[in-house]
Amino acid sequence: MRREIIEPFRIKSVERLRFTTEAERREILRQAKYNPFLIDAEDVLIDLLTDSGTSAMSAEQWGGIMVGDESYAGSRSFRRFEKTVRQIFGFRHVIPTHQGRAAEKILCGLLGGPGKVIPNNSHFDTTRANVEFTGAQAVDLLPDEARDPARELPFKGDLDIAKLEKLIRDVGPSNVPFGMVTVTNNAGGGQPVSMANIRAISETLRAHGIPFIVDACRFAENAWFIKTREPGYADKTPAEIANEMFSYADGATMSLKKDGFGNIGGFLALNDDVLAERARAVLILTEGFPTYGGMAGRDMEALAIGLWEALDERYLSYRIATVRYLADRLIERGIAIVRPPGGHAVYLDAKDFYPHIPPLEYPAQVLVNELYVAGGVRGVEIGSVMFGRCVDGVEQPAHQELVRLALPRRVYTQAHVIYVAQVLEELHDNRGSARGLRIVKQPPYLRHFTAELEPLD
Ligand SMILES: *Cc1c(COP(=O)(O)O)cnc(C)c1O
Repeated sequence: MRREIIEPFRIKSVERLRFTTEAERREILRQAKYNPFLIDAEDVLIDLLTDSGTSAMSAEQWGGIMVGDESYAGSRSFRRFEKTVRQIFGFRHVIPTHQGRAAEKILCGLLGGPGKVIPNNSHFDTTRANVEFTGAQAVDLLPDEARDPARELPFKGDLDIAKLEKLIRDVGPSNVPFGMVTVTNNAGGGQPVSMANIRAISETLRAHGIPFIVDACRFAENAWFIKTREPGYADKTPAEIANEMFSYADGATMSLKKDGFGNIGGFLALNDDVLAERARAVLILTEGFPTYGGMAGRDMEALAIGLWEALDERYLSYRIATVRYLADRLIERGIAIVRPPGGHAVYLDAKDFYPHIPPLEYPAQVLVNELYVAGGVRGVEIGSVMFGRCVDGVEQPAHQELVRLALPRRVYTQAHVIYVAQVLEELHDNRGSARGLRIVKQPPYLRHFTAELEPLD
């Protein structure tokens, strides 16, 4: 008999959950204008809004917090952090930032600008915003088959090399200041990128003298998918795989709120001495001195420990198995999700869940709201509330209506995940009674955060 994959930790310190009744949640949601972003976290039972900055730190990491060195210059915690990042990622220069987007901002500010084009498998929204803020263009180069939510591909985050070659030919290599790949591909469903693809991107860019930067937020989860899915890697450790992944690149941006097990933190890593010098000059203006950047010494101490923990095989196999369990159970019940599930989240297809609710009545927002009312579970809408557009007074729907359930690292147990699946199964059984929504108030930008809605009769 195959034994259960269990949580590879026991719990020393706990946070109490606050239970509410369905009637209370109905009232809370009404007061939050049917937008769960406006619900207080205290009123949420299981919060699957994001896996960013929501990880549980280990006893070792909390120990690190106590011995953090808060010296302004030359902190011992920075040296430990720098050494760890060099060991895992292999880059010469380690530039600490307060989170991932600060690393993106520095890099794009130095190399972006009008007329420049920056390719990626899929730009994450902060990356795209930082590219576009400089006047440069952010281009996504996923193969067409990876855009089909039902298509099962082992490395659905792979960048289309033919499209990359064509882009470089069309705009000219001098207009591509760097190329990127995001591991795993967050904006594309947390899908992994293969080692073969990383190698091919590197060869293509280097043939034209273009630097290659990896958006490394979920590098450990990506390494696990390579180990378990790509021929030739089964006997390598996740750390060895990570080492090889980054050996093909010239630098990385990293949000340590993901696979760093941190509540805050990030870095920009580079091999180019001149570029690193320029990046440090900007760092001092916006983040801080180069031996702490945007972090406290205790953060760097905890993150140096967290980065190794994220590469632990027991942890990674449990992490990916949890996401897989939730996905398989929903598929078995006929609930449509983006397939295969990625590393950090399950994406529900709300168009399929509520076929009777048209896109402009926001079926994914309805599902997020019903999940909250029925079970106190908070997910996030990735559909027409987030990506719909108002063109000449007419609403244009997004091309997909998804609900993302992102799993914080080491926070919830298997029973919590079973509970989430049960709530979804009940909702699915009674889906015919759900009604659409309309937007009554919205800001001009990023409306999903603060939009106010109300149910249709
Ligand atoms: C979270 C994330 C970022 C931005 O990092 P922050 O720490 O939130 O600033 C960039 N890229 C990807 C793929 C991410 O998931």
